[in-house]
Parts: sequence; structure tokens; C-alpha cells
Amino acid sequence: MSAARLVVTVDVEEWFHVCGHPTYDRPESWDSFPSRVVPSTERILSLLEESRSRATFFVLGWVARRHPGLVRRIAEAGHEIGCHGDLHRRANELSVEEFRADLRAARASLEDAAGTPVTVYRAPEWSFRSTASPHLSTLVEEGFRVDSSLLAVPPIGDIGNPLRPTVIPTPAGDLLEVPPLVGTFFGQPAMMGGGWTSRLSREARISRAIEEALGRGESPVLYLHPWEVDEAHPPMDLPPVARLVHFGGRGRVVPRLSRLLSRHRSTSLAEAFPAARRGRGVAA
Ligand SMILES: [Zn+2]
Repeated sequence: MSAARLVVTVDVEEWFHVCGHPTYDRPESWDSFPSRVVPSTERILSLLEESRSRATFFVLGWVARRHPGLVRRIAEAGHEIGCHGDLHRRANELSVEEFRADLRAARASLEDAAGTPVTVYRAPEWSFRSTASPHLSTLVEEGFRVDSSLLAVPPIGDIGNPLRPTVIPTPAGDLLEVPPLVGTFFGQPAMMGGGWTSRLSREARISRAIEEALGRGESPVLYLHPWEVDEAHPPMDLPPVARLVHFGGRGRVVPRLSRLLSRHRSTSLAEAFPAARRGRGVAA
């Protein structure tokens, strides 16, 4: 049994990787937008380095092919490289074979760039939706041991999804599911680990949820994106709700993370759950 630790995860994608948007959700147009992923990811790397923290970086295959040096620097700094899919497509909108092809393309690019095996996965936009997704079994068939794609907060997630690290048996074998930190707000499940609701929440509430998880002996999982810390984020054409989801409370991310890391040095999923990394599929 390992001691519970704060786990930081980063979904490494560009600012324009927005699922379902008529302008931005078209891979053929992505090379026409200014790339910001390198300087914004390096800002996160510097923040982690200040507290000698580690993290898991779920990188898109598309990003790894354009910026292999960035993936290599992340790995050389001691962080874990995970897979965020290849073209940022929602997993629940793909057939099993489409999902497998996207996964293989991404992993090949990531392993080429990083020079390390990649066995942890996070679906774009928490898009497995529920434990009934057939893609959980596909992940195990393809050699993945740990997933962090299920959210227990509706409407994106399912209320029946795990609230804490859980071994999910699939037809292909066991998969360790490690969900992001979820707390409660007025009796309802509420995202505490990242995203716009967490950015707009009071810092004391987030800190309390982290302390409570650590007190229960559980490793709380946070997540962020490079575009959330980008001081030169290009303007975007988004409808009001999507604008709130993307930009609301963004200015708080860096100072909050910095204060948090000064109190709790963070680690990666591989270090927090070493038994799963060895392929035994059990929570540490
Ligand atoms: Zn994403």
C-alpha cells in the first residue's frame, strides 16, 4: 500500500481542440491556427519543477507528431506520458474499430517521441460516459492498464461511475479506473479536480476536498490543460456557454496550482498506483 498523494494530470492539446464545434472540430483546418501548446505546456512544466512535483501528461498523437521535442522534454523531466487519443475525437462517437485505430495511431506517435511505453489513457471530454462502454475492453486488449476517463458528474458523466480508484473487470482483463476528484455541493456530485466549475469555485472548497481525500487514504486527481494557463490565448468564436467553459476563471489556475503544489508535492498516476503500472491491474 502506497501513501496517498496528490496526482496532477495535464491533457496536452491545442486551444482549438474543442469537440463538436463547427470551426474547430475539423482536423484538416488545425494547421491553419497558431500553435500555442509548446509555451503553455512549458509554463506547466516550470510550475511543477518549482515544487519538484511530477505529473501525468495525456498527450494527443496529433500534438506528438508536430512537437516530438516537447513530448521528449516532458518524459526527460521525469513525468509520465499518457495517451489522449489521436485526433481528439469523442470515444463514444467511434465504433470499436475506429477507436482502436485512433488509439494505435496516437500511441505509435507518443512512444516514438517519448521513447517510453504508454499504458495510461484519458478520453477527450470524458467521453466513455459510463462503465458500459465497449472501449474499456479495447483499451485492455491494446495493452493499457490504467484509464482516467470516467466522470461521475452528469450531464457529461454518469452518476453510477466510480468516485474513487476502482478496478473494472472487462472481457479482456482488469483495468484500473482513476477518476478525477469529485466532491459534493448542496448534496449533488460536483467536479473539484478541474474544469470550469472548479475554476469558479472558492479555493477553500477545492483545498478541503483534496485534504478530505488524502485523509481517507485516497490520491486526489486534478486535471488541467495548457490553454488554461496561456497568457497569449488567441481570441475564439464561441457561443456563451462554451465561452464560460473555456475561459471562465482561467486567471486563477496558475496561482492556485502554485499554492497547492507548495503544500502538496504532486506525483504521476504511475507513481501513485505502481501495481497497476506493472500490469497487475490492482489499486495500490
Ligand atoms: Zn481534451
